[in-house]
Amino acid sequence: MDGVKLPNGHSAVSGRLQVINDEKKFTPDLGEQIEKWGLLDAGFGYNIVAVFGSQSTGKSTLLNRLFGTSFDVMDETKRQQTTKGIWMCRGKDMDIMVMDVEGTDGRERGEDQDFERKSALFSLASSEVLIINLWEHQVGLYQGANMGLLKTVFEVNLGLFGKNTTNGRTLLFFVIRDHIGVTPLANLQATLTTDLNRIWESLSKPPELQDRQLSDYFDLAFTTLPHKILAADKFEAEVLNLRARFVNKDSSDFLFKPAYHKRIPADGVAFYMENIWEQVQSNKDLDLPTQQELLAQFRCDEISTVALAEFNEQAKSQRRPVEAGRVVDGLGGMMRAWRSDALTRYDRDASRYHQGVYKRKRADLVAALDSTLSPLFLGQLKNLHKTCLVAFKKEMLDGLHGEGYSFADVVSTARERCLGRFEAGAKEALIEETDWTWEDEMVSLKEEVKSVADQCRKDETKKMVNLIERNLKKQIAEPVELALNKAAPDMWDNILRTFKQTLDKAESSYLTKATSFDCTDEENAASLAALRRRAWQALRDKIDEQTAEPVILGKLRGHFEERFRYDETGVPRVWKPEDDIDGTFKKAKDDTLDLIPLYSKIQPVDSSLEYVLPADSIAVPSDSLLGEDFDFAATLVVFTETRALELTQKFRREADAYYVEAKRSTVASIAQ
Ligand code: GDP
Ligand code: MG
Repeated sequence: MDGVKLPNGHSAVSGRLQVINDEKKFTPDLGEQIEKWGLLDAGFGYNIVAVFGSQSTGKSTLLNRLFGTSFDVMDETKRQQTTKGIWMCRGKDMDIMVMDVEGTDGRERGEDQDFERKSALFSLASSEVLIINLWEHQVGLYQGANMGLLKTVFEVNLGLFGKNTTNGRTLLFFVIRDHIGVTPLANLQATLTTDLNRIWESLSKPPELQDRQLSDYFDLAFTTLPHKILAADKFEAEVLNLRARFVNKDSSDFLFKPAYHKRIPADGVAFYMENIWEQVQSNKDLDLPTQQELLAQFRCDEISTVALAEFNEQAKSQRRPVEAGRVVDGLGGMMRAWRSDALTRYDRDASRYHQGVYKRKRADLVAALDSTLSPLFLGQLKNLHKTCLVAFKKEMLDGLHGEGYSFADVVSTARERCLGRFEAGAKEALIEETDWTWEDEMVSLKEEVKSVADQCRKDETKKMVNLIERNLKKQIAEPVELALNKAAPDMWDNILRTFKQTLDKAESSYLTKATSFDCTDEENAASLAALRRRAWQALRDKIDEQTAEPVILGKLRGHFEERFRYDETGVPRVWKPEDDIDGTFKKAKDDTLDLIPLYSKIQPVDSSLEYVLPADSIAVPSDSLLGEDFDFAATLVVFTETRALELTQKFRREADAYYVEAKRSTVASIAQ
């Protein structure tokens, strides 16, 4: 079966791959091939075996029989070497990677020796079992090609695992072919063992490894196989027995002992082998711990990148709603799930690698995950803050609707619900393992809730003060009008008394309602001061209305007419010539003019009433409802002197007209 030559100079035929080609180049396709073999996720659950031996000793034939592989076998008729470089196959229905290594006869050929050494290094760095394939008649030929090969293997192994024997144990499995049966296996085994030890002794070892024994690094196992052609049935039967020893994990002579595993996770095998080959090819010292660490860095990065990409895809789904200001239900749960999925994925694959590297890269991954999640968390907090505050405002407004509510109750219920909602939402969004906090946001929310409540309380207080003011206005209107119409000497006493009584009632009504507002004493004092000023202003407005020029002139006229046009009993006068028109006129006029000073200033007879609003009762803080300075004394003046004079003048003119009319009426009656 001929291989398909790939553009990259490697051959791949139905599941087998030339890992290292004739030009000693490493294939770029191993990773993909391992995936195709279905071994990528095997972790440590796979085995690697390699075969070594002279050319044309039936190595490929043996592997194909044992593992159901399809390595090229020499065509009997042409008898030329077939296996070039190193090929790999997956054992049929087995989690085994099998390496068929180009055989050598090359004691003479320097080039071959070089490849022998490199392929030995490469195989020892990854394989658990090295099958050493040889003819029975080669046993005991200490100078034979196999012995050169084994010497190379031992030397190379010392370099690789000399100092560190962890994960460094390898099984050398001698398969003696064309065993005739005259010499029992035990004897062959003894001969080989003696030879091996002799080779081991002859190695020039570095001083610190002088005392190391062959058995410190290698286990040895031996078996024979009958002649494939001369004893074909027996050959096939023995091969089947042998296969069982590679496959049956439970059997006592299972060949892949855990101690032989080189602990390269399956998904790192390709990268690892390629690096090993590169080191070997460039004749650099092959330091396996460094290789393992490099592999770990590379793979942990790759695994982390994959986990992060999937994670980012998930996290992206909620970025937009959060940025748009939405509170995403169950965001914390989602974030925890994405995060732990990513870490689980990372841990599953990466924890098989060098622990230091794995942990370091894990910390990097955690940092990357959290830095993606953190803006979502902060956004969620901000959105929660906003929506909770909006809900709080709405609940306040709804609660302050209509009558009979207790402001303090409305506030505390709404506040509790708002902060409770925020806290529950914030706790849901929090990821325990982080150093995130939501308490600061809560503090700022509390402050805003308080300022909204304060504003509401101010508005409510204002509304209440307005309402009380309106009622007060209504209540004083009539008594004030009456008193101002009567113009009695104690007119102002009556007015001020009425005012005081009404204000007292208004104040106590305020205080009754204000108890539920949780106002401070200063706030209450300010509201009361404002109420008093506005009540006073209302009174002054009423007085102004009642003393506007036409109105006051009307009042004066009425007063005058009562005295001039009607007699003491209220009967209209009909002037006769003998009547004292002049006297009556003068008295009525003077009486009336006397009222002007009475009206012009709020001046009660009972002087205690002047202090109906003591200065400190109307003193308000600068930020209060009225704010401006208030000169109480100035508000006592109803007319200025100039206005009083004008009024006097106007009234005199009107009175004079009445006088003239009275005079005329007597003339008329005489004329009749
Ligand atoms: P490789 O070069 O070591 O891989 O050897 P091959 O598997 O290609 O086989 C080389 C030749 O040996 C082929 O012609 C095989 O048919 C023959 N062969 C394979 N196995 C045996 C065996 O067990 N005994 C003998 N005598 N010949 C064998
Ligand atoms: Mg071969």
